[in-house]
Formats: sequence, structure tokens, C-alpha cells
Amino acid sequence: MEKYTFPAGTLAVLESMQQPFAVYQFVDKRVVTLALSDGFCALFGYDDREQAYYDMDHDMYKLTHPDDTARIADAALRFATEGGKYDVIYRTRTPKSDEYRIIHAIGQHVLTDTGVRLAHVWYTDEGDYSEEHDVGHFELNGALTSALHEESILKASHFDYLTGLPSMSYFFELADAGKKVLFERGKQPVMLMFDLNGMKFFNNKYGFAEGDRYLQAFGKLLAKTFSNENCSHFGQDHFGAYTQREGLEEILQMLFEESKTLNDGNSLPVRAGVYLLESDSDSIGAACDRAKLACDAIRGTYESRYRIYDANMRDAMLQRQYVLDNFEKALAENWICVYYQPIVRAVNGAVCDEEALSRWIDPERGMLHPDEFIPVLENAGLIYKLDLHVVDLVLDKMKRQEAAGYDLVPHSINLSRSDFDACDIVEEIRKRVDAFGVPRDRVTIEITESIIGSDFDFMKNQIERFRALGFPVWMDDFGSGYSSLDLLQSLKVDLLKFDMSFMKKLDEGDGGKIILTELMKMASALGVDTVCEGVETEDQVHFLQEIGCSKLQGFYFRKAVSPEELMEIYAKDDAIGYENPKESEYYEMMGRVNLYDLAVIANDGDNSFRNFFDTLPMGIIEVSGDSTRFVRSNQSYRDFVKRFLGFDLTHEGSSFAKYGDSFMNNVVKTCCEQGTRSFYDERMPNGTVVHSFARRISVNPVNGNIAVAVAVLAITEANEGTTYAGIARALASDYYSIYYVDLDTERYIEYSSPEGGDELAIERHGEDFFAVARRDAMTRIYKEDLGYFLKLFTKENILAELEQ
Ligand code: C2E
Ligand code: CA
Ligand code: CA
Repeated sequence: MEKYTFPAGTLAVLESMQQPFAVYQFVDKRVVTLALSDGFCALFGYDDREQAYYDMDHDMYKLTHPDDTARIADAALRFATEGGKYDVIYRTRTPKSDEYRIIHAIGQHVLTDTGVRLAHVWYTDEGDYSEEHDVGHFELNGALTSALHEESILKASHFDYLTGLPSMSYFFELADAGKKVLFERGKQPVMLMFDLNGMKFFNNKYGFAEGDRYLQAFGKLLAKTFSNENCSHFGQDHFGAYTQREGLEEILQMLFEESKTLNDGNSLPVRAGVYLLESDSDSIGAACDRAKLACDAIRGTYESRYRIYDANMRDAMLQRQYVLDNFEKALAENWICVYYQPIVRAVNGAVCDEEALSRWIDPERGMLHPDEFIPVLENAGLIYKLDLHVVDLVLDKMKRQEAAGYDLVPHSINLSRSDFDACDIVEEIRKRVDAFGVPRDRVTIEITESIIGSDFDFMKNQIERFRALGFPVWMDDFGSGYSSLDLLQSLKVDLLKFDMSFMKKLDEGDGGKIILTELMKMASALGVDTVCEGVETEDQVHFLQEIGCSKLQGFYFRKAVSPEELMEIYAKDDAIGYENPKESEYYEMMGRVNLYDLAVIANDGDNSFRNFFDTLPMGIIEVSGDSTRFVRSNQSYRDFVKRFLGFDLTHEGSSFAKYGDSFMNNVVKTCCEQGTRSFYDERMPNGTVVHSFARRISVNPVNGNIAVAVAVLAITEANEGTTYAGIARALASDYYSIYYVDLDTERYIEYSSPEGGDELAIERHGEDFFAVARRDAMTRIYKEDLGYFLKLFTKENILAELEQ
């Protein structure tokens, strides 16, 4: 229907009327304004009639009290569609004032000469509105209040009570009519869906009343941008709008900018999904669905953004639908199976864990990866069925593997957030594991950092339950979120699995290396084990070994494979084998030593070597009988070995060689035999003297191998005399024995040199220095001097002497 135009003379007469008066027409399912009188402009505070026309066309209820908008908009629409009389009381303000006045509007339909139906509406000012409702102040306050309570009539409303915007069903009618008009004019209509990011959080933080006010403000902004009748509030924080393609980008940018000023700048980011209608036959319902798909596709964003719908989204939607429709069948027919990816111990290259990763092997569509079905099942709250199915398959595989004579390493299972809502997942898993008779510490629970952060207290409790029952819990994707470090302070887990993104950053310069090194140090200080996932290159392996990452996972070792393939691989001799669980602790101790941290060596209160931090060459040596092998080393240790011994540890150091062939045998040997820390000075082939230090870390309970940490404390060029080793050497020629004594514990190390020699060797270690010294004195000191010595050589006297 065409919009009616008055003959010019008639319009002038109408506009010059001093009574507040307006003429409207119902065109394309909406109310449009044809005439506004001078009295109307005066009553509603407009100096400029054009502005009044503009506002009426774009947002007729802009100045209406938000609580009244839906009611009167609905009454106007019913008046337009059903006829009868329009008679409403409502509150409105003027563009210049925040004070509300009460308006009484009465309207009726009038037919023009040509048979067009118009609505004439008269307005009366009933005085100012007081919030206090003082009885008798204004009779109409009472009438208004009762009108406000006639909520029942709003049940079938065409307008949303909260925002005053058209309801969804009315919006569909409006948009359907609007789209036809746009196509007729050769324009392309677009459907928009809006979603506010973080509305739930906003409500939690400020309360629902504030949340409602925010939604109202956003609704107002939409009405201002697209005009009232082109928008809708669909419920919650979902809004719709339609407009034309032309200028869309600019309009959205403007909308995003203005939305930042809402709620005094404490605003929420807006996501907008856009669907471009192709032809008149595109239904509004489908357009809304597609705009919604596009809107959902940019879920995890923290800035206002829009996305235009494309066919891929449709495919993804169909894929999601396929997954949901076929999930039960996939479970029943064993399309869902588990692939296993090994996790390898950095120090011995043996498989110490396996991660279960699910695969959907579809008879028609081939293999679906978790990305294609896990998020769908998570959103639908069905993932717990899959995860419990995975538990069953894993337990079954472990049983079969054990029966085939393999060591049983722990198997990791991934859990999702909604597992914890759908059932008591802790109890469900415990029941299954116990029923299968698999030890609980062989089943590891992987929980991503992001789900822990979402509902901290609840997740913390669930994690504690798992751990109290004896299941190890790992934090997956560590470092991918924002709260990683906070989490660690208040939550105990057994292991941190560093997110793949760390490996990507390693190749992008030193920054990534430094961060990972520091985090690794922190983990070892907290006593938490570590895995890096996404390891793809040899360089990465070396680096991770060096900084003390205990386990590695990634395509460098193996992709996830089916259990059948896995069995075939393990049956071959050359494959990396499983670690014997009895040896796990030994290798854990060995792997955990951070080669940048001297704490491992100076762990009994000795801080004197701390100054060497970071520059000390350090390595871990494993001793087997009379052979040694270099297990791990830092770069300065490798440089040191290359320089003084002429061989490259990176390539040659990792196999066992006879004592005689390798460096630092004495210090290592002494340390192994004594089981404590030991110092040693050793002259290198070129005459340089190396002062080194070793400590036993752990003994392998299966084969008796010993892990020793070695550090080089000082290197003295042949003709330098002022270093520690130089001084010691100088002393060695003057004294038979030199003692290194801890005066608190009275533990000591005795160094002695052969007569006339200038080499220092460790003679022995012991406790109770003063008692031992007095006993030794019996055999070493002349009888004549003995009494005198024993009298003077007491701890008290020595301390007093030192004090002096
Ligand atoms: P995730 O737990 O972080 O698993 C690691 C993912 O990285 C796996 O992908 C794995 O195949 C892949 N990956 C391993 N090494 C490398 C590498 O060196 N380079 C690269 N680029 N990728 C590597 P997948 O199997 O596609 O699993 C994806 C995600 O799906 C998993 O991430 C996990 O969050 C989830 N998921 C998998 N299976 C299950 C399950 O049974 N239940 C639940 N709830 N989630 C699962
Ligand atoms: Ca995982
Ligand atoms: Ca991960």
C-alpha cells in the first residue's frame, strides 16, 4: 500500500492547529506519521517540526517512558489492525527534559475521499508525573498505575515489555513487508542478529535490574540506528534488525562505537551476524536462522564484531545436525573409537603415558576428528555419554595390553565441562575403573585450564575428589587462557600440560623460550610434573630436555593411532617401548632437575654457589656399573665438554661408555659410592683445572643405575692462581688435610693430598667432625702434644677463635 499524501493546503491547515493533534496511517504493517500539529510540537517539546517528523518515523516511542512503550505500541497496533477506539494514558518526556508528564491520547479512524483509512489522534496534557503516587495529587496518577498493572493484556502483545521493541512474531511480519519494499526499490535487504557478549556475567555482577536497564539501553540504540519498527528483542540478550545492504558496514561500526558508551562506558561487546537476502522468496525465518549462525560463529570474541553468513557455516550446521542425529547410533554401532598418542619421557625416550583421543569412524563420511563432534556434543550436554564410552574402551584396551605382557602405563582421558553437570562423573569413572580392576593411578584425568576457570570452586572440589580417590589429574592446555598463574596458586594438580601454542612460539625468537623456561622453573618449584604437547621437531626436543620438561608429546614421536596399530608397533623390536612403572619415579627425579637452578646441588642449606646461577655448566649423568652416559645437559655444559674433551654431547653423549673414557669419573664415582654430595678438582688434558661438584639424585630400583647431577663450579687456566681451585692447590702443598665443615650439622668433607703433591682429592665424608678429629688425633699427633690439642680443639674454642 502507498503512503497517503495530503493536498498541500490541507496539510498546512492541519499543521497550524493549536490543539495537540496527529494523523497516522498503517502502511506495510507499520504506523507511519502523516501530519503533526503545532500544538503537538509544543506539547512534546519540539521547536522544529521536521525533527518531530523524523523522530516519529524512526523511533516513535523514543521519549515514552520505557515501562509504557510496549503497552501503548501494542494498543496503537491493535487500533490500526482491529479498529475501534484508541484511548491510552502514558508517560512521556520532551527532548529537553528528563521529567515525565502524563499524556492522555484518544484516536479514531477517518476515511479520506479516496477511501484511505487514516487515524486521527488528539493528545491532552494531564500534568506532571510523580513517582511518589501521593493520593489525590493527580487523579490520573492512579489511573496510570492501574493501567500499568494491566499486564494480562500484554500476554498477546506485539511488543516486548522490556524494551518496547516489536516482539519476534510481529517483527517477522514487519520484516517480511519491509523486505518486499526494499526489493521493489532495487535494494538488497539484510537480516541482522545481535548478541551481547558476557550478559550472564553482567547480570551476576550488577544484578538483574541493572541487566534489564542495559538491555533497554541497547534496544534504544538499535531503535535509533535502524528505527523502532525494524528491530526486535527476541528475549535474553538476543536482538534482531533488518536494513538494507548499502552502507551496512558504516552503520555497524557506528553502532559498535556508540554501544561502548552505554552504562557509562562499562559496556558489553556486541556480536552481529549478517544474512544478505537474495530474493523475495528468502523467508524471514530462514534469514534469522542464518544470521544467528553467523553470529554464533564469532562467539569467543572480546571486541564488537560482525560476520556475514556464508555457505560453510551452513555446511557446519548440517554437520552438527548430522552428529546429533547419529550420535546414539554411532555409540551403539561402535563408530566411536579411541586412538592413542604416546607421551614420552624426556630422559629415557620411553612411553610413560598414553592419551586417549576419540575418533568417529563414519561408514559414509569417513573419519571425523574431535573438533567436528566434541563441541557439538558438549553444547548438547551429551558429551558425558561419549566420555564414559571412552573410559570403557580405554579400560578394555589396558586389560588386553596387560594380558599380552606389556607394562601398564597410565592412560589419560579428556573430560569436558558439561560432563560434570550431566552426572556425577567422578563416581561414574570410579565405578568403572574399580569394576575392571585397573589400579586408579593408571587412569589420568585431563581437564583443560579453561573449564577450571569457569566455575572455580565447583571444579576445584571435583578435582580434589578425583585426587583423593587416587586418580592423577592433569591441567590440559595450560597457558592458553588468561588465568593460568592464578589457578596454580589455589589448586593442586599432578601435572601441567603446556599448550601447543608454546611450541609455535619457540620458533619465533627468544621471548617464547624465556617464558617457557621460567614457567618450567615455577612448575618444578611447585613440585608439579610437566608435559609439552605439539612437539614436532628435534630442536624442540633438545630445548625441552634442557629446561627440565619431564614428558613430551607430539607428532615428532607419533600421531594418535588405533589400538590395533599400536599393538603392531609395540610388537616390533625397534619401537620405543613402554616404561616399566617401577622405574617411573627414578626417571621423574632425573627429569625434574632444572639445569638452570642450583637448588638441586645446594639443597642442604648451602647458598654459596648461588652467584653462579644460570652460567654454571650442569648435566645429569647416569651411572651403570662402571659405565656412564650423559642424560641431560645445558648449553654451557655442552660447550664445556666440547671445549675440554673435544666431543659433541648432542650427538654422542647419550649412550653408555666406560668410566675411563668419560669426563669427571672421580667426582661421579665418589658421589655414587658415598651417596652424598662431593667436590672434586680435576686436571684436564690441556692443564686446566676444573673444580666440580656432584650430587646423587636417585637410584633405579630395577637395575641399580644411579643418576647424578654434576655442575662445574670453576675452571682455572693453568697459570692462574687466585681462583678457588688455585688457592686450594696452594694450600694442598702446605697441609696434609683440609676440611670443609658445616658448623651447624658438623658434617664434613676431608680433602688431602699425597705428600709433596699439589693435587687435592676427596678423602672422605663424615659426620660429627669434632668427635672424629679428636679420635684421629690419637693416631696423628705426637703423644707430648696430644693433651694440649684435645684441650684446645673443641667446637666452642674453634667458634670463639673464628668469632675473634
Ligand atoms: P587435546 O586434549 O589438547 O589433544 C591434543 C590434540 O592435539 C589432539 O588432537 C592431537 O592429535 C593433536 N596433536 C598431538 N600432537 C600434535 C602435534 O605435534 N602437532 C599438532 N599440530 N597437533 C598435535 P585431536 O585428537 O584432534 O583432539 C582435539 C581435542 O579434542 C583434544 O585436544 C581434546 O580437547 C578433545 N578430545 C579428544 N578426545 C576427546 C574425548 O574423548 N573426550 C573429550 N571430552 N574431549 C576429547
Ligand atoms: Ca588432552
Ligand atoms: Ca591440550
